[in-house]
Amino acid sequence: MRARGYAPFAASVENDALLDQIIAVARPGAVAVFDLDGCVFDTRPRQVRIFRELAAQRGWRELCAVREEHFLDWSLFTTMANAGISAGWIASHEADVRNWWARCFFSSEYVIYDHAMPGAAELCREVWARGAQVVYLTGRDISMAPGTESALRSFGFPYNAVRSTLLVKPTFEMDDTAFKETALEGIASLGLTTVYLDNEPANVNLYKRRHPDALVVFVETDHSPRPDAPAPGIPWLRSFWRTA
Ligand SMILES: [Mg+2]
Repeated sequence: MRARGYAPFAASVENDALLDQIIAVARPGAVAVFDLDGCVFDTRPRQVRIFRELAAQRGWRELCAVREEHFLDWSLFTTMANAGISAGWIASHEADVRNWWARCFFSSEYVIYDHAMPGAAELCREVWARGAQVVYLTGRDISMAPGTESALRSFGFPYNAVRSTLLVKPTFEMDDTAFKETALEGIASLGLTTVYLDNEPANVNLYKRRHPDALVVFVETDHSPRPDAPAPGIPWLRSFWRTA
């Protein structure tokens, strides 16, 4: 089963209960691990900005039609098609769009345009306030760290405080899941992982294998086209937003 796409305000009592569970296992000596892109951050505002800037640079008004709701997966072709752009236009411009998008998306300058998922910073603060170690474990690489740190601070995530750590890839080329697997050893030295949130099925499955007793949560936004699905028994979180 595939994720249905972002729904940042899709509150429900089931969702509330899962958020309560995440908070309940936070305690001194515990480690809570949060992914960033597509997890506690909504990357769509960053992507819309990238499309708008390219539209302005090249005079490609077609790209101005791209809005947040058009991002349902990682395919830029699908995103543009969802925005009503013709298949012919996409086919003749896709390579240019992709190059521009990649140059901007994977940069420190553009991550500041992400929005925190509503309720996510509050959750991290609550987990931190209960004495747990908060770790941000991301597929972003070291070159993106300055903008990432700025975004964490500006949205009120616990950062630059005791018991808060940002782990980024040493190189852009490194596979995200491979990096997260190598990071597990360092995270284990911080304490016992009790909570792990990620929007990539392969990553939650990796974590569940390594930490079967932890509360591993699949955050349902978008994810890579890899064929993995979250293992049975892993709960899905639709949003960080509460019913009340
Ligand atoms: Mg992610």
